[in-house]
Amino acid sequence: MQCADHPAELPPAAADPASAAEQLQAQNLALRNELDLLRDALERMPHGMCAFDGQDRLVIANARYRKIWCLPDEVVRPGATFRQIMDATPGRETAASRSRPPPASGSEGTRWREWQLDDGRLVEVVVSRRADGSCVALHEDVTEQRQAQERINFLARHDLLTGLPNRGVLREEIERALVGNRRGEPMALLCLDLDRFKPVNDTYGHAAGDALLKQVAQRLRECVREADVVARVGGDEFAVVQRGGVQPAGSSSLAQRIIEVLCRPFELEGHVVHIGTSVGIALAPHDGEDPETLQRNADLALYRAKSDGRGTLSYFEPEMNDRIEARRGLENELRSAINERQFALAYQPRFDLRSGQVVGVEALLRWQHPKRGVVQPGDFISLAEETGLILPMGRWVLEQACRDALSWPGHVTLSVNVSVVQFLHGAVLPDVMHALAATGLPARRLELEITESTMIKDTPTVLAALHALRDKGVRIALDDFGTGFSSLSHLRSYPFDHLKIDRSFVRDAPERPDLCAIIRGVAVLAEGMNMQTTIEGVETAEQLRAVRPLGCGAVQGFLLGRPMPAAALAGVIAKPTEWCEPCLPPQQQNPQRAG
Ligand code: C2E
Ligand code: MG
Ligand code: MG
Repeated sequence: MQCADHPAELPPAAADPASAAEQLQAQNLALRNELDLLRDALERMPHGMCAFDGQDRLVIANARYRKIWCLPDEVVRPGATFRQIMDATPGRETAASRSRPPPASGSEGTRWREWQLDDGRLVEVVVSRRADGSCVALHEDVTEQRQAQERINFLARHDLLTGLPNRGVLREEIERALVGNRRGEPMALLCLDLDRFKPVNDTYGHAAGDALLKQVAQRLRECVREADVVARVGGDEFAVVQRGGVQPAGSSSLAQRIIEVLCRPFELEGHVVHIGTSVGIALAPHDGEDPETLQRNADLALYRAKSDGRGTLSYFEPEMNDRIEARRGLENELRSAINERQFALAYQPRFDLRSGQVVGVEALLRWQHPKRGVVQPGDFISLAEETGLILPMGRWVLEQACRDALSWPGHVTLSVNVSVVQFLHGAVLPDVMHALAATGLPARRLELEITESTMIKDTPTVLAALHALRDKGVRIALDDFGTGFSSLSHLRSYPFDHLKIDRSFVRDAPERPDLCAIIRGVAVLAEGMNMQTTIEGVETAEQLRAVRPLGCGAVQGFLLGRPMPAAALAGVIAKPTEWCEPCLPPQQQNPQRAG
């Protein structure tokens, strides 16, 4: 194809007039062809194009140009002045057009312009002016391109599900608020973590969980003022940057409003669900002068709010840092405790209330710390769960306890406590099977104690593991019954062999007939469901006397036997307790001290 840079080759000039005329005709034809080609190319190009001469009169423009600007043919005609065309052109130059320099690729006479049309479209114009004053301009409708770019920018900075700013934007917003804070504008950072979100997600599915998060985001948006920013920083974690107001009163009332608003029921596909939130608050500049410190401290405060019982707010306090440091130290020590074999098991007997015989023994973990002495599970189990260290610890407990139980009479059951974390990692079944195989203890002599919190964490996983364990012959006990949700549906859907009634019911039983009525009711219920019952935590003869006639099968507590080393257990098992009728304190058999 010929083009302007490579003009059509013209025939050489001829000597006689006739052939000169023919030549001219041929030249004309060639030029016309070339012009047609150029026009065709001009009409087909995706850009709008127009050219003005040195006197600012239109020389040529393509249809795309007229279409982009919605200009009628009578305006865009050769000879029309630049001003006439501009007067008919809709829209105005954008702010970007005034601030942005010409594109780097443009020659010296190239200018970049951007126009916003009245209908909202954006048009980019690149004008190249020549030395004689004439110019050529290329026009492009960049509306879709810009919208796509804006969408990409939005997605990079926002959470897809809720449309809230993401963690990156939160950081920028904290930084901006901190600039204001340095000029004296109060600011607070609120970190939120939803309570009971996971059960909703697990029960109703992820689509419902997503819908819930969207509703939460909307309620949060409605709680804050325009100057504040709400961001989603993780699964069920949100943050609010609060600017201005009076602190701490402002953040306290915002946090209370948020807690109150998120406590209200949510409707999800016909179900009514209840969640809630805990809020941790850090105030600048006192609790941090940079985004990292402020966020870390608000998180520490949140951690405290959650452990204070959820649905509460907590402000950062410097001691929280010390506690975290102490916890970190404990975590390191716990790690090395596993390698250095600093764990031991204490065993607490469980007595049959009729025969006085030991019918079971519960294994209780002890940490023999080289400096602190014996550390009780209440001081390290939750840390072990959070760090995952409970997995190797739990494995060790199972195997060691099964090994020790081999030396007890065959009718004595071994009870081992297992944590929800072991279930969620799918560790319980393989660890139990390994322990039984390695020691040779019959499965029917092993009982696993779980608490109700295990069941609400991940119902299908836990349920499947419990059924598999029972199929192998292992018994399942529900520990601390009465302290969790104590839902009857748990009793219906989970395969329990044994209910252990929490010691909180026993403590005041001698003076409280209502507590006795509860224990009696649970005993009847359990018997009807073919489950055994044990009353935990009996410490005094009065308590034993009060609970013994209530229909439970067994009793466990300091009165009859404290947790003791394996070696001390043989003597206790060999000598049944003789219940002393009618007032019933047993023939005490020197309660052993903890091992
Ligand atoms: P738990 O399973 O309910 O165990 C009974 C706890 O009550 C034991 O505390 C025991 O020493 C204590 N206790 C027994 N009788 C009495 C009594 O008459 N009065 C009082 N006040 N307390 C009594 P311990 O050994 O400190 O264990 C606390 C909890 O730690 C256990 O509660 C159990 O949930 C957990 N735990 C213990 N060992 C393990 C383990 O190997 N793995 C896991 N995952 N958790 C364990
Ligand atoms: Mg237990
Ligand atoms: Mg218990």
